Amino acid sequence: MPTILYTSTQHTAHTHQHPEHAGRIDAILTAIAADPTCAVTIADIQSVSDVTIERVHPSSHRAWVLAQAEAANVAPQLDGDTYILPGTAKAAHIAASGACNAVDAMVHGNPACALVRPPGHHATATTAMGFCFYNNVAIAARHAQATHGLRRIAIVDIDVHHGNGTADIFAADPDILYISSHGWPLYPGSGAREHMGTDAGFGSTLNIPMPAQSGDQSFMQAYRDVVVPALDRFVPDAILLSAGFDAHWDDPLGNCRLSVDGYLDICTLIKDAAVRLCQGRWCAVLEGGYSLRALAACTHGLVRLMGNLPRISDRLGSKPSDPHRADAVINWLVHNHPLLRTV
Ligand SMILES: [Zn+2]
Repeated sequence: MPTILYTSTQHTAHTHQHPEHAGRIDAILTAIAADPTCAVTIADIQSVSDVTIERVHPSSHRAWVLAQAEAANVAPQLDGDTYILPGTAKAAHIAASGACNAVDAMVHGNPACALVRPPGHHATATTAMGFCFYNNVAIAARHAQATHGLRRIAIVDIDVHHGNGTADIFAADPDILYISSHGWPLYPGSGAREHMGTDAGFGSTLNIPMPAQSGDQSFMQAYRDVVVPALDRFVPDAILLSAGFDAHWDDPLGNCRLSVDGYLDICTLIKDAAVRLCQGRWCAVLEGGYSLRALAACTHGLVRLMGNLPRISDRLGSKPSDPHRADAVINWLVHNHPLLRTV
């Protein structure tokens, strides 16, 4: 079954001389279009209601984004990292909509990937930051619960940065498991291994801070020994992939050494978990990734994986790294995280 790629030209209204620019989506679509064996369906994103956004963000935050965007002709820089333009509010709404569209497709048994920007995982319920305005994957998770009756959702965030927004939104929610592997130390500085959620949500946050320069073997070990057992213990009704590809060795903003093959190995573990635990319900929502060639190759590979197509060779190759670089954090989590410890 061809993977459905949800995309829209609306994102081009939010672009700037900045690592997070419209050429990122173009690079992905160009790589996929150049592969005649990669059957996909490209679908125009259908806008969701304001209510759908407001399951995560209060109306005051939406109003703030709209007002900032309207004023953006004179103040394009929202903070040190995040630019805003007149088209940003609409682009962000469409990005969140694409994530919800992917959930809808997933529920109907279709492999689906939301090729959206601006990304979302740094946006908290009330704060735009880190290139993000609305938290696309969080909105999609609430949409899956509210519209499709899926109760327990696992979000696996493979972006090199900790998704502080997603973690914050769901910190106290026992029905949403947020798992993040991220370079450490790195922006935004959150995501310590000791942070496991709050109140009733204690144990439903799993942070895996990967030491800088961690590569394929360390990530594979972390996913095999930590992520997969946690998913097995949590038993989700669906898995949403926060698909950031800036942990690739070629990324200018990242600090890790994953290769395309390394990324696809961990994505394969997540897919296998979805098949084993929740009737194959998983879908992907694009987050970061700022090396255009690595972003395109990783996303292309993910789309093939979702469509059950054989993997093609990793033309970018790999970088050497210490296979034991993440041993300490993996060992600590195995013995201390409530989803993992056996006693
Ligand atoms: Zn990132």
